[in-house]
Amino acid sequence: MERYIDQHLAHLVDPDRFAFYKTLCQFADREIAPHVVAWERAHKLLPDAVIAKMAHLGLFGLTVSEEYGGQGGSITELVLAGLALGYYSQSVAITTGAASSLGTKPVQIAGTSAQKKAHLPDLAAGKRMFAFGLSEPGRGSDAGNPEVKAERVAEGWKITGEKCWSTNAHWASHVVVHALTNPQGANGQRTTCFIVPTQHSAVTVQEMGGKQVWPLSSTGSIRFDGVVVGEDAVLGEVNQGFRVMLNTLNGGRLLIAALALSSLARALDLCRNYAQERTQFSDKPIGRFQRVQDVILDMDIALHQGLAWLWHGLALYEAGTMPRELAAKIKIECTRRASDLLTLAMEICGGVACLDEFGLIQHHRDLFVCRVGEGSNFVLKTLATKPLMPNIELQ
Ligand SMILES: Cc1cc2nc3c(=O)[nH]c(=O)nc-3n(C[C@H](O)[C@H](O)[C@H](O)COP(=O)(O)OP(=O)(O)OC[C@H]3O[C@@H](n4cnc5c(N)ncnc54)[C@H](O)[C@@H]3O)c2cc1C
Repeated sequence: MERYIDQHLAHLVDPDRFAFYKTLCQFADREIAPHVVAWERAHKLLPDAVIAKMAHLGLFGLTVSEEYGGQGGSITELVLAGLALGYYSQSVAITTGAASSLGTKPVQIAGTSAQKKAHLPDLAAGKRMFAFGLSEPGRGSDAGNPEVKAERVAEGWKITGEKCWSTNAHWASHVVVHALTNPQGANGQRTTCFIVPTQHSAVTVQEMGGKQVWPLSSTGSIRFDGVVVGEDAVLGEVNQGFRVMLNTLNGGRLLIAALALSSLARALDLCRNYAQERTQFSDKPIGRFQRVQDVILDMDIALHQGLAWLWHGLALYEAGTMPRELAAKIKIECTRRASDLLTLAMEICGGVACLDEFGLIQHHRDLFVCRVGEGSNFVLKTLATKPLMPNIELQ
């Protein structure tokens, strides 16, 4: 099936990057599309063989410099991969995407030379992954004040508490843990990040059961029962951990916006095809009804607008000049537009949209996590409103 999104992308992306994107689309057509419904029905995580194929394509090292065995690309490559793979399955796209944007990124931002040498080559090769340990059972949006704590001990640091919602936990060799180290410190100076191995007797990783979004993606809770790590496990500066986490999330939010657009792109193609094939009332296609046309056109407009704004954000991100609120606004707009439109997309397809094999229902579910993950849209709205009203304290 032709991807109509390509009409827009071809004007935004240079020819080399467009060719890279098309290669990944072909991979997705061949390796993901024919199997994804069966994988989801099996209620298992993404097969290791698929992860190995994606590693072979270099998808885990897109943003890692060549010095460490990566492709030396940027966030734009990551977003293009998200668009290409997410078209059939956000689960597949988030597995490689989060491995880079949440797993590898903190090491790239804040790692010492020794930490980079120890981890980046394996991460770039997809031999192992890192998980991003920010959220906790009692600390979601209020992630700046973790209950997980790290105390100084003779050998280094002792970490206690629990993280949850950690993407890729099942495949993670390590988790970057955001822990309270300075309870009396000022806002943003209370916490430190640590690189903690998951294969440790004082660390327990458990897959979170019952999750209905991103079904092929691993989402784990990780408990730390007084695990002791050395000084060399500190990632970045002591008591500056929140900055590492926030800087990581800026890029991640652009990727989430891309995943929302990948779902919208798929819905647009399924709907415009269906509206031309499905006949009702005198055996004429339902696409002749203006209310059906409205939905299809709105999807295309939202897709085109979302991509243009996303590419604006990517350019600023790569130039190092993107304000935090811009990533928040792009994520809010792309995810809410896509998920609102997905409901209408399903409505114009009627009952068949309820079937997994039709291809819309899982995207509909996955768009919910796009609204909530990497900072819920409600919370991000406060962040994005701050520059508009700098003289009052917003809540
Ligand atoms: C599938 C999945 C994967 C995830 N992956 C990761 C991961 O890899 N690593 C990680 O650390 N986390 C991860 N998360 C966690 C995610 O980032 C959190 O769910 C998110 O930050 C929201 O936290 P919460 O769910 O605890 O909601 P809460 O913080 O409890 O918020 C509940 C509601 O209250 C609203 N609310 C809270 N505070 C405010 C406020 N100040 N202003 C306005 N509204 C507010 C929220 O918007 C939301 O609607 C993942 C989540 C999911 C579902």
